[in-house]
Amino acid sequence: MFETLSDRLSGVFTNLRGKGRLTPADVDRTCREIRVALLEADVALPVVRAFIARIKERANGVIVSAALNPAQQIIKIVNEELVAILGGETRRLTYAKNPPTVIMLAGLQGAGKTTLAGKLALWLKGQGHTPLLVASDLQRPNAVTQLQIVGEQAGVQVFAPEPGNGVGDPVAVARAGVAHAKVRLHDIVIVDTAGRLGVDADMMQQAVDIRDAVQPQEILFVLDAMVGQDAVTTAEAFRDGVGFNGVVLTKLDGDARGGAALSVRHVTGQPIMFASTGEKLADFDVFHPDRMASRILGMGDMLTLIEQAEQHFEADQAEAMAAKMAGNEFTLEDFLEQMMMIRKMGPIGGLLGMLPGAGQMKDALANVDDRDIDRTAAIIQSMTPAERQDPKIINASRRQRIARGSGSTVSQVNALVERFFEARKMMSSMAGRFGFPGARPSNR
Ligand code: GDP
Repeated sequence: MFETLSDRLSGVFTNLRGKGRLTPADVDRTCREIRVALLEADVALPVVRAFIARIKERANGVIVSAALNPAQQIIKIVNEELVAILGGETRRLTYAKNPPTVIMLAGLQGAGKTTLAGKLALWLKGQGHTPLLVASDLQRPNAVTQLQIVGEQAGVQVFAPEPGNGVGDPVAVARAGVAHAKVRLHDIVIVDTAGRLGVDADMMQQAVDIRDAVQPQEILFVLDAMVGQDAVTTAEAFRDGVGFNGVVLTKLDGDARGGAALSVRHVTGQPIMFASTGEKLADFDVFHPDRMASRILGMGDMLTLIEQAEQHFEADQAEAMAAKMAGNEFTLEDFLEQMMMIRKMGPIGGLLGMLPGAGQMKDALANVDDRDIDRTAAIIQSMTPAERQDPKIINASRRQRIARGSGSTVSQVNALVERFFEARKMMSSMAGRFGFPGARPSNR
């Protein structure tokens, strides 16, 4: 996701690299380039305008302060403004004082509501909750059956009208579902509602009636990220029609541009809370604006990566690695160990996509497979311990020896060493920003 924007922005920053001081002409050019990048990513025009105005104002401040290394200053500003436009802080679910907490899902047909109901239920169950799914989408043929299937996959109960009772009343089902949850002590109720293919008065009225009947703590607007600009109009219609206090973006896996993600918060004033990234129930995550911004800027998504690592490894092992990444003591030895850890964690392309600098390495990543890891391992294993600790000493003759020893070419050895230095540089700057355990201020 966000590939186009990432590529464009990294081009913008490359143009700034090596500049000693920023001039007004540089700021103008940079703002123009960022503007084009955002428009190409299908970000809504008012959002682009607001964003550029902020960047311009702050970049002018960089001129005034005559700061050295303006490229880094601009990257920092763009990062902070991306975080802001994506919603700033991560917004958590609000739970009712007296359970059950009612979460109502609203959105167009095909947005991914029913799938999301299952994902959310599985996620909540993993946190020790006892969610109940309520099938109030009586519009779409099969919606009830589909909810029952995802409920079964998630291992949670589903409240649905008896089959064969005619069309049924979705408002009555929703109300009965909440009553059922109270009796059976479910602490969360997720109400799946009907959508239509387009915004439609009947659908909106039905959503309003369900809302009034069950008084949800959370109304989540489910939005298909792939619809691009149309997302904004749909979001406005739902905001004005039924109202919502959180957004869930679905199909982010298929969205190369990111326009909906970058526009929806600004346009509706409501935060994105979750992201859905595939058809499987596990393809779901809390939406973190800061992590998303880092990803857009090609800085990788170290926190998510580390969280995933923690699920697979002992916490102290992952923490030790994080601390090494944070300092500058990360060596090729650690690099090798990390690769071996990653290899155990499965789908390699997806994981490497989270590593810092992945944006620029995309083409290379498309071809990464386990054999590459084996080759990398062979190269590192052909190095002496001193070389692994301090790769700076690897001169031309050492490179030739390492290439011979590992059955690879000198340029493969060069590529690996360069990649390592690049990764280490990114890691220490990312770590400093996020304050990993044991992080020291980076010395860049
Ligand atoms: P609803 O009409 O809003 O309930 O939408 P559904 O839950 O039935 O989803 C519509 C289609 O989108 C289904 O084929 C889902 O498998 C698919 N889908 C839902 N979420 C995602 C996602 O995050 N990524 C992808 N690729 N497909 C999704």
